[in-house]
Amino acid sequence: MAFTDDQLERYARHIVLREIGGAGQARLRSAHVAIVGAGGIGCPAIAYLAAAGIGTLRVIDPDTVSLSNLQRQILFGAEDIGRPKPEAARDAAQRLNPDCHLIPINERLDPANAATLLRDADIILDGCDNFETRLAVSDAATRLRIPLVTAAVGEFEGQIGVWRGWEDGQPCYRCLVGDATTDPARTCAEQGLVGALTGMIGSMAALEVIRALVPFGTPSTGKLMVLDLLGNRFRTLAVPRDEACPAALAPA
Ligand SMILES: [Zn+2]
Repeated sequence: MAFTDDQLERYARHIVLREIGGAGQARLRSAHVAIVGAGGIGCPAIAYLAAAGIGTLRVIDPDTVSLSNLQRQILFGAEDIGRPKPEAARDAAQRLNPDCHLIPINERLDPANAATLLRDADIILDGCDNFETRLAVSDAATRLRIPLVTAAVGEFEGQIGVWRGWEDGQPCYRCLVGDATTDPARTCAEQGLVGALTGMIGSMAALEVIRALVPFGTPSTGKLMVLDLLGNRFRTLAVPRDEACPAALAPA
């Protein structure tokens, strides 16, 4: 469990925190985090998690980098245009922290492959851009009993949730959104977004992953944080469990 001198220096600002310390840093190093979506939310989350010393990041995204991504997807540069996002993310994470092992998966996650792609992760961060993938991630996380952090943005609003839906009385992400489907007219491509907002929400999602792994502070489980950046309002809502939720009724 010993750290090298370089690691002690690199992680000094964590190790000096009473809430993290050497033991917490060791837990981050041994952690395996699956990240769905290497976009506006995934990029800052990957950057902070790699820099924080997470041992293994598994990044799942089917897309390639495009010019319009660069307004907010800060892991990528102009030279990455056309490359698969997970591979470009691996190079960026390597540059930030050679201790971090990033496994790139250039695949679209769906209900059929979700369990295979997410299996054995200690925690999942979902920052993808559509409800179909979000619900596939949530249902697999509940079945596999893996904690899930969800993060989403729309125009000037952001939401972060933390879910352990297999536990008694705890809601899952599906309890919040039901059978929502993505309105094709309201995908990110048509919708405006300020890059700094995706940066905030991605950073908050990374913090929730670190909070859950160490752990420290007040647990966020079963709560939804809602940020309205037009009105500058920040609320935390308790989400009730839906006893009729199909995820809760599915066999383990
Ligand atoms: Zn549910």
